[in-house]
Amino acid sequence: MEPAAKPAITEAARRAVDLRFVELIDKVRRNRPGDDLELLRRAYDFAAEQHKTQTRLSGEPFLSHPVEVAHILADMKLDVTSICAALLHDVVEDTKIPLETITEHFGADVARLVEGTTKISRLDLLAPEARQAENVRKMLLAMVNDVRVVVVKLADRLHNMRTLNYLDPAKQQRIARETLDIYAPVANRLGMGLIRGELEDLSFRYLEPESFFDVQKKLATKQKVFDKFLLEVQDSIRDKMVETGIPAEVQARVKRAYSLHLKIQKQQRVMDQVYDLLAIRVITDSIKNCYAALGVIHQMWPPLPGRFKDYIAMPRPNLYQSLHTTVIHGGQTFEVQIRTQEMHRIAEQGVAAHWKYKDGHAVSNADDQRIVWMRQLIEWVQEMQEPSEFMSTLRVDLYPEEVYTFTPKGRVVVLPRDATAIDFAYAVHTEVGHQCTGVKVNGSIVPLRHTLANGDVVEILTQKGHEPSRDWLSFVHTSRARSKIRQWINLHEREQAKDVGKRLLEKEARHAGISLKKISNEDWQRVASEYGCGRIDDLHADLGYGKWSARQVLAKASGQALPDTSEDKQPKIVDTVKRMLGMNDGAILVRGHDDLMVYRSKCCNPIPGDDVVGYVTRGRGIAVHSKTCPNVQNLMYDTERRIPVEWAGETQATFPVRLRILTEDRPGMLAAITNVISETGANIRTFESGGQDLRARIEVALDVNDRKQLERILGGVKRIPGVFDIERVYNV
Ligand code: MN
Repeated sequence: MEPAAKPAITEAARRAVDLRFVELIDKVRRNRPGDDLELLRRAYDFAAEQHKTQTRLSGEPFLSHPVEVAHILADMKLDVTSICAALLHDVVEDTKIPLETITEHFGADVARLVEGTTKISRLDLLAPEARQAENVRKMLLAMVNDVRVVVVKLADRLHNMRTLNYLDPAKQQRIARETLDIYAPVANRLGMGLIRGELEDLSFRYLEPESFFDVQKKLATKQKVFDKFLLEVQDSIRDKMVETGIPAEVQARVKRAYSLHLKIQKQQRVMDQVYDLLAIRVITDSIKNCYAALGVIHQMWPPLPGRFKDYIAMPRPNLYQSLHTTVIHGGQTFEVQIRTQEMHRIAEQGVAAHWKYKDGHAVSNADDQRIVWMRQLIEWVQEMQEPSEFMSTLRVDLYPEEVYTFTPKGRVVVLPRDATAIDFAYAVHTEVGHQCTGVKVNGSIVPLRHTLANGDVVEILTQKGHEPSRDWLSFVHTSRARSKIRQWINLHEREQAKDVGKRLLEKEARHAGISLKKISNEDWQRVASEYGCGRIDDLHADLGYGKWSARQVLAKASGQALPDTSEDKQPKIVDTVKRMLGMNDGAILVRGHDDLMVYRSKCCNPIPGDDVVGYVTRGRGIAVHSKTCPNVQNLMYDTERRIPVEWAGETQATFPVRLRILTEDRPGMLAAITNVISETGANIRTFESGGQDLRARIEVALDVNDRKQLERILGGVKRIPGVFDIERVYNV
């Protein structure tokens, strides 16, 4: 934003900037040992080259600006990625270097931060009216894809504000207004108390110079009195803390000019009546000691009634935590703020505090806080009643490698990027994962493989007894989900496969007229080894998985040659296997195949007349789904395993279905419904009803022969006066 001016850069000025960079390197080395200093050096050299002829209006080399911005971030102990972005933040904006060059030299992360910062710089954030300012702030957060972008931008703005006196008055006004209306509140929202305070005071100075200098003068005349008073109070508190064995650091502060000004205006008071004009901070090691210290303070001086605030139990929206109390000493009121080191860090640096220990220790608490933050930012941005265009750009990521999602009750579930609904289900609970039959994201049904985004509210639909599917392994992202699914499959599928393997052998033996009992265990063991299986059980499992042909295995074990039978000779109906599995409803046909287990999948519970499709599972036969089942959407691309199935003509079998009926709550309703169902010849299994607000909700489980019968029931019930709605519930 600073245009190049004419004066040439002196060698001394250049060296001064180099020196500041050396200091920067030292700072980063001290604060974040192990970070890539080489990257930092290259970023500096690159920026130096690009800005080499540019100067600021102050006459300094332009390069001094990015270096000072980098210092602000280094003081907050931000990571090297952010600091590099600070060094390069004006390169794209001012020197027409394409972003690809930054990506090429410094990687995608740095480039992304530079891009974000540049994007914000190009915006005119001055809101036409005060009411709009809130939306502009939200937009600022909504448009970035990494909160570090905002932190870099705030540091950039802070340095520009510190050097604002070189600009012409019109620009000063404009920039100061934008800072006070937009950037300072955003810093506040991110909990960055230090930056916010300085931005406010600097803006105040340019926007209302008279008031600013008035407040400054009042404070200055009292400065000596204040200093003496604060020193005295600090000393006595320090002594008392030592005496009572509470580890504490004691600091003092005088209220900042802008917030003092606001308070005087708002409360119509004179300066001396502002209770928290002077404040002492007691910083201790634990929450327990915060309350202990409070007790000590109240023993030293009686508290002013109604001035105690417990922001530890009830943090402010920006996560500020402290105990506040006001006491009087020698006729002068002052506020005591008590907090832990961690709370202190958060109070001063807010969101930026989280990069500090990222690859060190003590992450847990900071992690919790950033989760709360993330959630508040999302909520805050979502409040924005703007066209959906805005919402689609909602990408507030504190950590680009994670995604923050919520249970319907508002619990945060942190998942790796690209995690799916199934990952979410397993993160909630293993059983929720196993029994997951469907999922709603923000109220709409989505496929199980749906990738979750920040802020998604995820509701997992479960059904007792439902079983995980091997397909899930192809799209889950968390190791937790993967290992839980594997565990389950190994346990259950193997058992079933063994069983199926044995049955297949029995069937082949019957066909060939061989008695399995006559084959010795030694022979089986020999054949098992021949197929690379340690135990006979393993051989059975392999057979069940379809690895080997039962006919060949039987031939080897029995020592008899068995002729191959071609598929054509086999009957087309799957009765055999179904009988083996006790599923002899004979309702489903698989074209061209016999000897296949067929089962109606529980997720959609198809009944004759529904459009169905089959999927070959390993070892569990063919799962028959309704074509509209969400699981089928997931399997859509797995064409190899898809197999056409159809309903057999007439069967005697009945099929369970469940109906949910919403009715007016009136006597005789249940009887009317029961009548309609009984008239069609269907059998009612269970009947449950509950009501609220004059409405009754009835769930009926019944057995039907087919879809035709079901449709008669649906139509009949709908015609009963007072029935609002009836639907088939697929999970039975
Ligand atoms: Mn800049």
